[in-house]
Amino acid sequence: MFWADKLLEKIEGKQVINDSFTPSGIVHMGSLKGPVIHDTLAKVLREKKVDTEFRYGFDDMDPIDGLPANLMESHGKYMGQPLFMAEGLEKGETFGGHFSKMMEGLLNQLDIKPDFLYRTSVLYKEGVFNKAIKIVLDDVDKVRKVYEDMYKKKLSDTWYPFQVICPNCKKLGTTKVINWDGEKVEYECLPNLVIWAKGCGQKGKISPYDGKGKMVWKVEWAAKWFTFGVTIEGAGKDHASAGGSYDIAMELVEKVFKTKKPLKLAYEFFLSGGKKMSSSKGLGITGDELLKVVGSERARFLMIKTEPNVAVEFSPKGTDGIPALFDQYQSFANSKDKDHQRVIQFSKTAQKENLPDIRFSTIAQLAQMPNAQDKIKKYEEWAEYAKVWVEKYAPESEKFTIQKELPKEVKNLSKEQKKLLSKISSEIFKDLHAEEFQTKIYELGKELGLNGKQTFSAIYNSLLGKDHGPKAAWLILSLDKDFVKKRFEEVSND
Ligand SMILES: [Zn+2]
Repeated sequence: MFWADKLLEKIEGKQVINDSFTPSGIVHMGSLKGPVIHDTLAKVLREKKVDTEFRYGFDDMDPIDGLPANLMESHGKYMGQPLFMAEGLEKGETFGGHFSKMMEGLLNQLDIKPDFLYRTSVLYKEGVFNKAIKIVLDDVDKVRKVYEDMYKKKLSDTWYPFQVICPNCKKLGTTKVINWDGEKVEYECLPNLVIWAKGCGQKGKISPYDGKGKMVWKVEWAAKWFTFGVTIEGAGKDHASAGGSYDIAMELVEKVFKTKKPLKLAYEFFLSGGKKMSSSKGLGITGDELLKVVGSERARFLMIKTEPNVAVEFSPKGTDGIPALFDQYQSFANSKDKDHQRVIQFSKTAQKENLPDIRFSTIAQLAQMPNAQDKIKKYEEWAEYAKVWVEKYAPESEKFTIQKELPKEVKNLSKEQKKLLSKISSEIFKDLHAEEFQTKIYELGKELGLNGKQTFSAIYNSLLGKDHGPKAAWLILSLDKDFVKKRFEEVSND
């Protein structure tokens, strides 16, 4: 059974699905897995006629706690400030707004349309979390107990799960709340609380409500479940390990907020060459890059084709990883297997495309042949992806460029190979079908005592400057016949 059907088989009553993203940098392709999984769950529930609400949030109240090197100079001064307050990369936008917009665009392409798209900072300002804030401050003992039981470590009596935005330096990451009198929290903005930002030393008392500060994020996670009535929220493996933030939030929602835990669903990362894909290590690609080369259907397919808790290997650069993904998509789409059909159903987006009856790798070869463009016209969408793949990701061995000048590689061809080319050039105008022509080429080579490899490499060397290439007959017939004849004669007379 398709994993989402199985997971939701026994679900009852109204469902609230939540997922969120911290808009602090470029959206890596791995960050799309959560949204696609949650969207698939929402779609499966709706198909079952279950009353479903799908919320997707941008956690822009989080402080900036790291920046890529290229932004350090311009934005280093905002380290510690909430994402919604720091200036954006372009005029008229905030830092969090910039990356939220980026993610929103990707969600749109992936056909993910949450019922509520929220900015956490706005909800704080509107007082939506005021009730939860009062609970975690009033019942701070219970919050501390959950942490203490989980981590087997005593917390100090002055630890509160809340941080204020310093009214003086606007930083949140540097503040510490040390007391709560039922109306105001007492805070300090510390120079050395964290290594990535320096507080200003300000001390004071302030109301914790209406956006003056935020709950620490594990507590905030539980507070969202309590406030929105969340019944389903999955978590990536980095949060879902034993004793991790997902577990803490689960305990908090039950023991502090006295509400039911949401359905637990941990999902795995992508692996690239067996290693965790990460942008900092240059492994993998961004969400935007992924959509440009595989399209939204393959992107969704990649995220839901296996159970979420299985790590999926995907190495897009310099490998056949992308053609293999298209092949697998094609095989699922043509399969009669019910599970495969379900995967394809939930991979589909509003962008309608024709499923090609030839492989992606063949389309990629045809896309590189100057006169074969009409052959791939009916596979327009895949041809576009193939061109991107060839240009940016394909291994050198898959790139074929017709050489405008005589390639220097022809110098290594034998007398027989040169003779072969001369014979082929006299067959070019005979109007043979590609299949027949291919056989003819092979036979001509055999007559000259050449094996298959020697035969075809003569052609590839002359046209591409390589010893391998796409099917020779198709390659030749895709080109201007006069050009090929001239080239082959040039080589054989060389
Ligand atoms: Zn300060």
